[in-house]
Amino acid sequence: MGLTALSLGSNSGDRGENIRQAVKFLEEAFGKVNKSTVYETTPFYESRKGQENFYNCCVNFRTENTPEEILEKIQAIENKMGRERPYPNAPRIIDIDIIFIGDEMIAQENLTVPHPAMQERLFVLVPLVEIMGSFEHPAIGLSVDDLFYECPDDGILVEIENFWET
Ligand code: AMP
Repeated sequence: MGLTALSLGSNSGDRGENIRQAVKFLEEAFGKVNKSTVYETTPFYESRKGQENFYNCCVNFRTENTPEEILEKIQAIENKMGRERPYPNAPRIIDIDIIFIGDEMIAQENLTVPHPAMQERLFVLVPLVEIMGSFEHPAIGLSVDDLFYECPDDGILVEIENFWET
C-alpha cells in the first residue's frame, strides 16, 4: 500500500481554523496523517486576483481505502465544512485535492491521479518536498524534489511559523 498525498487549501473564513478542522476530519476518516508546514500563498490563477491569500499544506498517510472511497471521503469533508461552488475558482473555505495514491495512475471522468497540475504549482510542491521529497511521480518518473527544482511557478509562499504547535 503506497502513500496517499493530499493538498489542502483555504482562502475564505478563518483559514487557519479551516485547515485544522479539515485535518481533524481527515484523521477521523483515515487515521493519523503526516503534516507539512502550513504556508500563506498568493492565489495561482488570474481569475483569483484580488482574493484573499491561501493557507496551503499537504498531508500524507497510508490507507486500504480504494481511490473512489478516498475521493468520497474528502468530498464529504468539504461538504460538511460548508464548501460552496458558486462559480469556478470562487473563494473556498476548504479545497482538498488528491495528489498521489501510491503508484496508481487513474484517468476517470471524476478522478485524475496523480493530480494533473501538481507539477506546475509551488504551493503543492513546496509542502510535498517536506513530507515526501524522494517519492517518484509514477507517470513523469521524477522525484518530488526534482519536480520542485524544475517547476516554473514563481508564486510566493510564506511559512506560518509554529502552526501545528499552537
Ligand atoms: P474542486 O471543485 O476544485 O474541488 O474539484 C472537484 C472535482 O474535481 C470533483 O468533481 C472531483 O471528482 C474532480 N477531481 C478530479 N481529479 C481529482 C483529484 N485528483 N483530486 C480531487 N478532485 C478531483
